[in-house]
Amino acid sequence: MNRSFRHRLGARSDKGSRQENEDSHVVRENDDVWAVADGMGGYENGKWASQTVIDAISAAGLTGRLETDCAILADAILAANTAIHEAGARSDRTMGSTAVILASRDDRFVCLWVGDSRAYLLRGEHFVQLTRDHTQVQDMVEHGMLDAAAARAHPLSNVLSRAIGVQAELSIDAVQDQIAAGDVFLLCSDGLTGVAADAEIALRLSTLQPEAAAQDLVDLALDRGAPDNVTVIVVACDEVTRAPEPAGARS
Ligand code: CA
Repeated sequence: MNRSFRHRLGARSDKGSRQENEDSHVVRENDDVWAVADGMGGYENGKWASQTVIDAISAAGLTGRLETDCAILADAILAANTAIHEAGARSDRTMGSTAVILASRDDRFVCLWVGDSRAYLLRGEHFVQLTRDHTQVQDMVEHGMLDAAAARAHPLSNVLSRAIGVQAELSIDAVQDQIAAGDVFLLCSDGLTGVAADAEIALRLSTLQPEAAAQDLVDLALDRGAPDNVTVIVVACDEVTRAPEPAGARS
């Protein structure tokens, strides 16, 4: 029998020092799906773009099977890509959105993403970034043209190389792996990672319950002036212990 997990959650979003919040997010509590999207293109367009992505993810009919749901969620992102791209073409504006989506099924997870919204996993003392930013600067790092420290300070550090709605075609990255008891996932927009270091984020995830961690991470961004909207979803995984099946119950 597969192991399964119960999830404890914290989700917060704040406009920071911006006038409006162009981030959107969703918690599909009964479906074990969580997502953050960060819109761009000026407020009305950016908010509409990120909400269009989140609406598509919210409406996706899921099966509870990891591989199938991964494909269904990818199709939802592609449908949002078409809708945003067509709206942009009609209004002669460039608008778009990032997305990072996490889905948990039994003892496995899948994470899909486009852009620079990130997923992290805290497992014991290890804090790893599951996603790889689709930014021009990250592309330069991977081609050996820039080191990581220079990348963070680079003036073009937030220029996306890939976003939902910008082009008619879109490729989506995904990572799948096992879940372990005690795993804590974080989904966030770049309003957090632009002002907080990995170690500061990991400290809060390892010492606070998900709701308190989500609030504390947003407060950390606000304390630092929050130049951008900030959205975080924290998902902690507790293994569900099942009573052993009685002897002879299975053939
Ligand atoms: Ca942002």
